[in-house]
Amino acid sequence: MSNSMPIASPVRTQAIVNRYFMHAKKNLGQNFLVDLAAIKGIVEAADIQAGDQVIEIGPGIGSLTEQLLLAGANVLAYEVDQDLPEILNNELPQKIDGEDLKDRFKLVMKDVLKANFIEDNGGFLNLSKAVKIVANLPYYITTPIIFNLIKSDLDFSSLTLMMQKEVAERLVAKPKTKEYGPLTIAVQSRMNVRLAEEVKSTSFMPRPKVDSAVVVLTPLIEKPDISDYAFFDHVVKMCFAQRRKTLVNNLKALIKDKDEREKIISDLGLDVRVRPEELTLEQFVKLVHLLKDQQA
Ligand code: SAM
Repeated sequence: MSNSMPIASPVRTQAIVNRYFMHAKKNLGQNFLVDLAAIKGIVEAADIQAGDQVIEIGPGIGSLTEQLLLAGANVLAYEVDQDLPEILNNELPQKIDGEDLKDRFKLVMKDVLKANFIEDNGGFLNLSKAVKIVANLPYYITTPIIFNLIKSDLDFSSLTLMMQKEVAERLVAKPKTKEYGPLTIAVQSRMNVRLAEEVKSTSFMPRPKVDSAVVVLTPLIEKPDISDYAFFDHVVKMCFAQRRKTLVNNLKALIKDKDEREKIISDLGLDVRVRPEELTLEQFVKLVHLLKDQQA
């Protein structure tokens, strides 16, 4: 098989599967992208330029990695499947225009949830400069990966992540929709979130049961006034504990007295019958301040 065909094609992917007697491991969320246009969409959404520093999560057989390297990026990749180093080593392009691509790729065989970026990197990327995170995520750990990255000390300029469409819709949701909830607010209170691309299940091998979407997260320029994120996340979760009930009702777990609860709603300028999904991020921030003042 000529390597002039991209790994992200059904024919080349099938040839790799046959050559190495491999099978996609469901428990590792292995659905390989075989749609070059979808991958180019990810590379474009991440705005990859020559010389960019990229951390990729789960390179698999290298379909996205190959396009990141061809776009000129330096790629540090985290993978856990011990069958893949040999495949990546043999199948990723070795050279372009005389340049040795191996110098721009480093594989770390480690669970990304246990990553220590500085230690694992070993001087490969210059981590005093911002990196871009790019991944077709293993879907079974989508939210822990996002939160680990957001909460890490790593200086990143963007996270461009393929995930199940249903989760993507929750990340970008607006108030008064059924997708809007604690996950939306936890992420939007920390990052800008943009939906870049929707990808059908036919773009993968094997095909997942769900459709997918690419979301780009970038650091907020104006951060909301939240001093204690753990408390903020906790309050938001309590507010949505029973999303069909009113906010006053859900707040019972935090404040026993009904009059006090109603006073907080009226201090927010809201109707006493308001439901949690009607509050904007700014209103949740204000609510948390009122609760803190009340506890003081
Ligand atoms: N990037 C490839 C592509 O687009 O075709 C593969 C993406 S596949 C959806 C997810 C990849 O993440 C698999 O290669 C899987 O082995 C890897 N993976 C699963 N759990 C992981 C973990 N905890 N840490 C790092 N990689 C993981």
